[in-house]
Amino acid sequence: MKNGSGKNNEENVLRKGELEIQNVEKTFRIPGCAPCVALKDCSLTVERGKLTVLVGPSGCGKSTLANIIAGYDTPGSGKVLLDGKEIKGSSSDCIMIFQETALWPWMTILKNVTFGPSLLGGSKKQQAVSKAMSLLETVGLEEFADKYPAQLSGGMQRRAEVCRALVMEPKVLILDEPFRGLDVMTRALMQEYLLKLYQQTGLTMFFITSEIDEALFLADRVLVMTQLPGTIKTVVEVDLPRPREFHVTTSEQYRLIKSQVMESLYEEGAKIFTHLQGIGGNVPDTCQSTDAP
Ligand code: ADP
Ligand code: MG
Repeated sequence: MKNGSGKNNEENVLRKGELEIQNVEKTFRIPGCAPCVALKDCSLTVERGKLTVLVGPSGCGKSTLANIIAGYDTPGSGKVLLDGKEIKGSSSDCIMIFQETALWPWMTILKNVTFGPSLLGGSKKQQAVSKAMSLLETVGLEEFADKYPAQLSGGMQRRAEVCRALVMEPKVLILDEPFRGLDVMTRALMQEYLLKLYQQTGLTMFFITSEIDEALFLADRVLVMTQLPGTIKTVVEVDLPRPREFHVTTSEQYRLIKSQVMESLYEEGAKIFTHLQGIGGNVPDTCQSTDAP
């Protein structure tokens, strides 16, 4: 375990697909409310080709950070660098998969998956169908290519969405609690599919979850976030063997790593609980309503 200062001490030059978040701060200001400091002094590194998982209590700023990395929002201060260049706005370099399904209901699965490359033209457009079919095959959906989203189960739709993101060949794939709401078995299968794609593509992935077991099963490295305002509290290396299968979760090594993460997260959960008791069950004071207009 080490402190989450996020500094990459290999060298100062970031490599392709490497992401560095430096001292990011984000405050939401809503008229009539006290400012909500969602992120404060948040620094971390997402190493190239690694699967980094961010885990933290609900409402601690995880999605805020994901939105900033994907270029959908801007930090109040601090920097987000990809390959050493500051991210300014959204691009196909960093693609995000959300919890909500985003497939277009009027397009077949294949059309959905190839839509992005079809807009790009060139070799990406030409190769889109074969690449899409190969990805769909990896996640067991090749026979559903001509079906519409409504004809697929929730888990199948999630798999198709991952294919739709991967076909764009992003440098970083951000997944913001993508499997939340799925039943336990479907979720476990989704995790296995994701690991299969991760090993096949070698892509840099930044996965967000509030589930410790999901984090540990997937991660090369787990980053534990504090409660609001979010910052990285602990970095835990997960050096469990790959390819990972379900039985890895019963090993002694897994149990030891899990207890490190649990301890760190538990402290944050306890803080929220104490805080809520102190203010009579209201939201944290950074987000409380004021009398000001
Ligand atoms: P998480 O994803 O960890 O559950 P979020 O990043 O969604 O947390 O939210 C962190 C805090 O920022 C919450 O208190 C939330 O209410 C607040 N917040 C998030 N987005 C906005 C917004 N667009 N406007 C105002 N407050 C926001
Ligand atoms: Mg969220």
